[in-house]
Amino acid sequence: MTITRYGEPCPLCRTPLLLDVLQVRSAQSDFPTAERVTGHRCPSCQTTRPEQWTEAMRSLYGDA
Ligand SMILES: [Zn+2]
Repeated sequence: MTITRYGEPCPLCRTPLLLDVLQVRSAQSDFPTAERVTGHRCPSCQTTRPEQWTEAMRSLYGDA
């Protein structure tokens, strides 16, 4: 399943980023066994300065 949590401050506006986190669960346990961050989001920067946002994410995380 995928959850959303707050991450480090946005490089552009310093608001905490929203992280898309994929949680992997084993068949034997209800607890997540592994987590993988699949995306970083900042709704305001993605709306107001999408080009800067894309560039910042590409250089920092390589995921946009
Ligand atoms: Zn931002």
